[in-house]
Amino acid sequence: MSNTSYDIAIIRGDGIGPELCESTVKVVEACGVNIRWHDAPMGKAATESHGHCLPVESLETVRLHRYALKAPLIAEKISGGVRVEDDQGSRHYPSVNNAVRRELLTYANVRPVVGFEGVSGKYREMDLVIVREVSEGIYIGMEEERDKDTGWTIKQTTRSGSERIGRFAFDYAKRSGRKKVTACHKANVLHKTDGLFLSTVRDINCEFLAIDFEDLMIDAACYHLIKNPVSFDVAVMPNQYGDIFSDVAAGLVGSMGLAPGANIGDDYAFFEASHGAAPDIAGKGIVNPVSLILSAALLMEHLEENDAALRVRRAVSAALGQQRFHTPDLGGRATTSELTDAICINLEDGK
Ligand code: ATP
Repeated sequence: MSNTSYDIAIIRGDGIGPELCESTVKVVEACGVNIRWHDAPMGKAATESHGHCLPVESLETVRLHRYALKAPLIAEKISGGVRVEDDQGSRHYPSVNNAVRRELLTYANVRPVVGFEGVSGKYREMDLVIVREVSEGIYIGMEEERDKDTGWTIKQTTRSGSERIGRFAFDYAKRSGRKKVTACHKANVLHKTDGLFLSTVRDINCEFLAIDFEDLMIDAACYHLIKNPVSFDVAVMPNQYGDIFSDVAAGLVGSMGLAPGANIGDDYAFFEASHGAAPDIAGKGIVNPVSLILSAALLMEHLEENDAALRVRRAVSAALGQQRFHTPDLGGRATTSELTDAICINLEDGK
């Protein structure tokens, strides 16, 4: 175990966010990685405490420490979205989560989906990594009401954005010993956007000839995911497809509560559960904390604390292997703290 200590920002978030953070901080402590956490409030909680859902000082805290653990934020419901103003000028985003990603220039949203013995049934062998482009696509917030019966939106795809995410996906596959990259798209209909994405990613493949490459229409990809989930290894796709595909994959392995994620850019990265703030179950003590705990494992890998990351994954698998630690989203009756404590005990026991 390394003696290094780290300073990492923490965004405790809204809804189930604070509960997820409490469990995750406990697990990180139990695995022996020394992290000093620095609060960077965002979302509804920050609107209440700072008068803005994305305070400039919170973004500065994340930039200072470069990495953050982030719980879900409640999406801005007001029309007009989120405006960020600083000495660089004024920028506008459609939601607070979108704003954080784009302010920190994290363009790759990495969402591993792994099945668990005792939880995921016939999807227990699933082990894929979704690499979702999050700096462009259809969520750039360029939407307008043409007249009261017609809405328009712009989907932006650039060669540079496609090259960047394509290279990220192949490089990720190479670094993590994976064998294949699948590009998912709808290039048969969206020739100028998804067509550009596909041809660009295909070209990048020439730099990584040891990695197999295939492409699939996103609708066919959903079909294959359900029929033959092990056929996927790394799947790279534009923003909205990745958003939806990753929720489908999480549902197949058993719960949104098992789905971790990382948002990675050239300078900053933050690690967050793939799901939202789930206000319906907040404060009841029944949240499944595994999504954020596994996001912390991705953070540890990013810090090159690979042994700790592996131990956390094993401790989670061992806990999920016992039905008595299943939270209600997995069909059980365990509380968040019972599952968290089981993971911590497994870590201490070296399970
Ligand atoms: P958003 O609109 O921000 O995507 P949401 O709350 O509408 O967020 P999700 O958070 O994606 O939707 O989740 C949908 C449902 O899945 C939640 O309402 C909740 O019941 C369940 N869920 C999500 N995360 C968890 C979790 N960690 N543990 C248990 N159940 C969860």
